[in-house]
Amino acid sequence: MDLLNSLGRAEPGPQSPECSRKGCRNAADWQVLWNNPKIHDPDRRKVWLACDEHRGWLENFLAQRLFWRSTEPLAGADADPGTVGPDDEPPVHP
Ligand SMILES: [Zn+2]
Repeated sequence: MDLLNSLGRAEPGPQSPECSRKGCRNAADWQVLWNNPKIHDPDRRKVWLACDEHRGWLENFLAQRLFWRSTEPLAGADADPGTVGPDDEPPVHP
């Protein structure tokens, strides 16, 4: 999904980053860092933003696929919601 287009924003901005969970518009408090070794360099980290409610959901989703690496507080971080794109979606099926 495209967060920026869905919100009608002309430009990405650091203000009020939102949860990456589909359908969730809550403000993000966490950045969930993950890596798919099949398509990413080992040192690369993809970032999903998460609200308090969905942090655990996203961690569990990624952990089940062995993609989860770490979760860090979003405050003060260099968050970039634009990193979330179709090619970033882990496979839906096990
Ligand atoms: Zn959420």
